[in-house]
Amino acid sequence: MEIPYLSLKQVSAQHFDEYSSALNRVLDSGWFLQGKENAKFEENYTKYIGTKYCVGVANGLDALILSLLCAIELGKMHTGDEVIVPANTYIATILAITKAGLTPVLVEPDISTFQIDDSLIESHITNKTKAIMLVHLYGRCAYTEKIEAICQKYGLLLFEDNAQAHGCMFNGKKTGSFGFIAAHSFYPGKNLGAFGDGGAVTTNSKEAADLIRTLANYGSSKKYVFDYIGQNSRLDETNAAVLDVKLKYLDEDNQKRKEIAKIFIENIKNEKISLPKISDYDQNVFHIFPILCENRDELQAYLLKNGIRTMIHYPIPPHKQKCYENVLSDLILPVTEKIHREELSLPLNQCLATEEISYIIETVNNF
Ligand SMILES: *Cc1c(COP(=O)(O)O)cnc(C)c1O
Repeated sequence: MEIPYLSLKQVSAQHFDEYSSALNRVLDSGWFLQGKENAKFEENYTKYIGTKYCVGVANGLDALILSLLCAIELGKMHTGDEVIVPANTYIATILAITKAGLTPVLVEPDISTFQIDDSLIESHITNKTKAIMLVHLYGRCAYTEKIEAICQKYGLLLFEDNAQAHGCMFNGKKTGSFGFIAAHSFYPGKNLGAFGDGGAVTTNSKEAADLIRTLANYGSSKKYVFDYIGQNSRLDETNAAVLDVKLKYLDEDNQKRKEIAKIFIENIKNEKISLPKISDYDQNVFHIFPILCENRDELQAYLLKNGIRTMIHYPIPPHKQKCYENVLSDLILPVTEKIHREELSLPLNQCLATEEISYIIETVNNF
């Protein structure tokens, strides 16, 4: 059996006719940016997340950068301020912090959840700390009441990187609705993925939403009038139309992911492998299914030989990347380094067939 890690051809085939007619509608309209499709998707997505405002942008990295630049323009933060961020995140979160002229302060995750360890946050707070950037990594909720209390106590802004967790819940609220501003990515492989790059910010602040829309439109709120040195970062009408179709099926797709994750957790039994510990399936949309194995590379090669493609999220931690040499390279982060050394992601998506799920379990158990 050959099992791809993720086939976007399979994923797109699921509602092919609906995507085709959405794309044809945009083609027919002759209107490709800042039109009806964006307005409709923004309205539906903001309702879905449970915030007052949503602004479509070009990608997730821009969504993160614009969120931080917005807070700086509003005078809530200043260049050089420190932002607390999980050390094991996808590097885009940290790139955004440094691109915005802020200083990332890396905090180790809890190995049992892969999310920022909230008991370590307070010891990293200095008088330059102005924000916490939460990342709901691997599709799992990183928000805790303790983090909220820390933000209150020290007057910190809370930002969310919700690139991997569209539809994830905590106490009846969606991730992406907890902080001051949340950034979302619609990269094709994400749970809510476009046909190309796409992103959005969600917020309850009208001031922030309006400013981000302006900053993402060359710094202009009125044609040919420029109030800020802005950038060009907008969501295409074609992608907004596609995302609006996909959004209708997101809960259903996430539900399938949860069911498959549950089957994996109940049936994978191999003492060389540790499985994610899940206390509440609501708080996870399983963007990926991470397992840990000391002989990770051997396991990956064995699975590949047996037709199962896997991925590593991620092979090199941000503080060991060349781009942060001499900036973050002195940090000693044993939990993060262990994750990067031992993590392997099994295929998990709504298109996996029952036989494929059984084959993955059987093959992993025989390792
Ligand atoms: C994908 C991702 C991003 C970046 O999103 P793009 O749309 O690819 O720019 C940021 N943060 C996390 C955690 C991601 O997984």
